[in-house]
Amino acid sequence: IPLSVGFVGLGAMGRPMVANLARKLPAGSRIYVHDVVPTVVEELCTEFAGIVDKSDSAMNVAQLSEIVITMLPEGSHVKLVHLDPESGIIAAKFADDKVIIDCSTIDTTTSLSVKAALTAASPLLSFYDAPVSGGVLGAINATMAFFLGCSHNDPNLHRLTAFLSLMGGKVIPCGGPSLGLAAKLSNNYLSGIITVACAEAMDMGMRAGINARTLASVFAAGTAQNTICDVFNPVPGVCPKAPSSNGYKNGFRVQLMRKDIGLAVDMARTVGAKNVLGISGLGVYAAASEASDCQDLDSRVVYRYLGGRED
Ligand code: NAD
Repeated sequence: IPLSVGFVGLGAMGRPMVANLARKLPAGSRIYVHDVVPTVVEELCTEFAGIVDKSDSAMNVAQLSEIVITMLPEGSHVKLVHLDPESGIIAAKFADDKVIIDCSTIDTTTSLSVKAALTAASPLLSFYDAPVSGGVLGAINATMAFFLGCSHNDPNLHRLTAFLSLMGGKVIPCGGPSLGLAAKLSNNYLSGIITVACAEAMDMGMRAGINARTLASVFAAGTAQNTICDVFNPVPGVCPKAPSSNGYKNGFRVQLMRKDIGLAVDMARTVGAKNVLGISGLGVYAAASEASDCQDLDSRVVYRYLGGRED
């Protein structure tokens, strides 16, 4: 059955997600898109003429669509796009059930407050948080994972899983509202802190005289084995396809990792969890985000920031 889908936020992640939907949705489906940057909207409408149409506000996107996705930078953008009384999703008038999915990585409190405001304004609406993991490549190849903020017996789960699978490889229901975000922030906290530990351990062993590749193979065979060391090793030359071996380009930007670790540290405070490593890790990512030789590069550039050698 053809679907009408809305999409707001056509950046590094949103744009390839729309492209996958345009290729995979049943014939006759429409995708209504909106972004504050007009060029990206025009480009998508030209590339997928007859499937993708532009809308001049999030309200109009929601008005026209059965399912709406938002993929925005931060909580402030999510609040604006969802709750602006003039042009936000909340201003749309619905006659039928509607599903709104926010895929942005934001704090759980904002997500819960957006859900509460939207469902209070329109009882026919269901709102879910569904942040993603897998980066821009995962968005392009539709291999990323969705961490879905819903219970295992949610009546929409089957439909949501089928729909999100058009853009990703895995959909994991995390138990209830905002828990997709709690899962995502916990995941990025862990991978961000492992990266700093890996950078320090690699640098230490190399300074003691061990070759970088030998050291990585020791970690792979020992109890330190982990994906960052094996696949995204921060030391240039260890993993030829990793961003570190390609000038730290085309990866997960260090500023995004700073944002996510900051959100995770806030969440830890809110729920009363200890995060000794998070506080120092956040300091490393914050400083690297501002260093001219690290800014805008892949987050594994913290190896460079920490003084690791790159020859
Ligand atoms: P981006 O900055 O490339 O794209 C965001 C888009 O939202 C931009 O096109 C911007 O113009 C648009 N936008 C901002 N305010 C708007 C508004 N009021 N109305 C309409 N459009 C608006 O960001 P991204 O890299 O696509 O990331 C989006 C989210 O996904 C972030 O929360 C990020 O943390 C998360 N994420 C990113 C990656 C990654 O590798 N880039 C990976 C996983 C998760």
